[in-house]
Amino acid sequence: MFHVKHCDYEVAVVGGGHAGAEAALASARAGARTVLVTLEFDGIGVMSCNPAIGGLGKGHLVREIDAMGGAMARVADKSGIQFRLLNRRKGPAVQGPRAQMDRQQYRKNMQSDIARQPNLEVLVGEVADFEISDGSVAGVVLASGEKIGVRAVVLTTGTFLRGVIRIGDKSRSAGRLGNCSSIRLAERMQAFGLPLGRLKTGTPPRLDGRTVNWDMLEAQPGDNEPEMFSFLSTSPSCRQINCGITHTNEKTHAIVSRDLELSAMYGGYVDSVGPRYCPSIEDKVVRFPDKLSHQIFLEPEGIEDDTVYPNGISTSLPADTQVEMVRTIRGLEDAAILQPGYAVEYDYVDPRALRATLELKAASGLFLAGQINGTTGYEEAASQGLVAGLNAALTVAGKEPAIFPRSESYIGVMIDDLVTRGVTEPYRMFTSRAEFRLSLRADNADQRLTPLAISLGVACQNRIASFSEKMRKIENWRCVLGKLSLTPSEAAIFGIKVSHDGVRRSGSELLAFPGVNISRLAAIWDELADIDDDTARQLERDAVYANYVERQNRDVEAMKRDENTRIPDNFDYSVVNGLSNELRSKLSATRPENLGQAGRIEGMTPAALTLVLTGVKQLQKRKAA
Ligand code: FAD
Repeated sequence: MFHVKHCDYEVAVVGGGHAGAEAALASARAGARTVLVTLEFDGIGVMSCNPAIGGLGKGHLVREIDAMGGAMARVADKSGIQFRLLNRRKGPAVQGPRAQMDRQQYRKNMQSDIARQPNLEVLVGEVADFEISDGSVAGVVLASGEKIGVRAVVLTTGTFLRGVIRIGDKSRSAGRLGNCSSIRLAERMQAFGLPLGRLKTGTPPRLDGRTVNWDMLEAQPGDNEPEMFSFLSTSPSCRQINCGITHTNEKTHAIVSRDLELSAMYGGYVDSVGPRYCPSIEDKVVRFPDKLSHQIFLEPEGIEDDTVYPNGISTSLPADTQVEMVRTIRGLEDAAILQPGYAVEYDYVDPRALRATLELKAASGLFLAGQINGTTGYEEAASQGLVAGLNAALTVAGKEPAIFPRSESYIGVMIDDLVTRGVTEPYRMFTSRAEFRLSLRADNADQRLTPLAISLGVACQNRIASFSEKMRKIENWRCVLGKLSLTPSEAAIFGIKVSHDGVRRSGSELLAFPGVNISRLAAIWDELADIDDDTARQLERDAVYANYVERQNRDVEAMKRDENTRIPDNFDYSVVNGLSNELRSKLSATRPENLGQAGRIEGMTPAALTLVLTGVKQLQKRKAA
């Protein structure tokens, strides 16, 4: 199926995880002849940890990947076995689509997308080195000694760089259970002078579902009306299943406390930092001693698979302690463990070494994406892959880069956070990270990003047609709503409470009032009788946020002004009078690309920002003179 020619490639993507798959597809879609080099073909699209896609903040990223023509959303829709919209009762801005995956189906569906993608070939091998020429990347060198010349490389090696997995006091070199780690490449990166750090993450034991007593447990069904991730999907492809819910108890916690010293995380075997928001059961017992019980979701890993993922008890306790601990839990009294939980420690690159395109500042043509940049999670990895792959292709084509501003997407928020602030723990996405979250909603990701995908030529015909039709309908009905209006007294007759200020309000404005929706307005105006459900829901959501978004736009404009003020790559902060030494060294280390990024560096003050702006203007004047 894969006829590798070993020649004539423009972009090499190293690694076939979530970042690598999306990077390779994006690069190929953008027209670059792309090769995906990965340790094993079957490892493409593997979910190393939980069999689920999306969630709060993460679901926004998946929708944005889709809006940009990426694969994750469609693959997740095809492989999903339980769909739930999180925060359904809250406003659309903080709702998060999430779905549980059939793990094998997800992998297979991603592999078949890769196989079908024109311009893309897969090569199985270990990348051990880069070829560099005049400070620019010129190719990759495989462990076999074979060289592949390319003009851009996207490195997406996840937890594999000097990865060490640990279960209790036992450790071994591995990228994840069952896979070798990448040591030669890590050494090469170090020799390159890249700022490397160490992070850790962990995963729970996997259970044999045939040994779980499901009858004793509360069942958690999916939504009756599943919300798809992709703007192009309509309904799930797989049979839908229930999950189970159970809880830890005092006996469980007593075993964890008893063997805490034997845990890799707590026994002093690992000193790197782990994800605070994805705590291990050891973390939970230590950090919340007063809590006598923690919830566990028992998530089947597939339709034809008896493996169960117990979400909530990630651990690196010794394997026999894990058996003892699991069997204290209701419904799991006879549970058999198929694979023990473990922790993995790995190298990451300080993302402040990257530009907003995810290209390394120090080596042109070398892009990094995914867990290697200090993030955690499939969605975070895939979004970065999309940005890096796209920009690698644009670079080799000599085109302008694609920048994702934080005012326009969660993808932009994440990249800006990474490149300006760096990470102190594995970074994951939350809605609270986005200051403009009222406009960055999962439901309008296509309105925000698909025009960009179309202009870059990376949206397929199907997407272009469906988006254009959707927007045509929205604009048409918005126009109809704009022409209809009520005075406050007329509104009162129909039971719509607005202040009696004498102001006539349009249909769109009335939609923003509590309890007003399209069907209520259609009962007033016959013109609205034919509006379809999807358009009606979108107009309702847009109307609720319209006022807030208008107010936000002033802040967005101010941010854009700062972002348009470029700071030269080699700008000398030592000559900026009045800057504190601390800020001077932070700015010199981070090298922000523009004034907006400089303003978001931790500890930056408005006064210091003015000093930097003055310095940049003086430099421009001197250059112009
Ligand atoms: P990966 O998916 O790890 O893919 C890396 C790819 O690089 C692999 O295909 C590998 O074969 C390839 N590769 C490596 N070295 C080379 C080389 N030298 N040459 C060629 N190919 C190479 N996320 C969460 O959100 N929550 C969690 O609780 C969580 N727990 C985790 C627990 C564990 C034990 C692990 C391993 C991961 C966990 N994750 C968790 C993280 C999640 O799996 C990753 O964030 C995500 O998979 C990262 O995607 P990636 O594409 O960056 O890397």
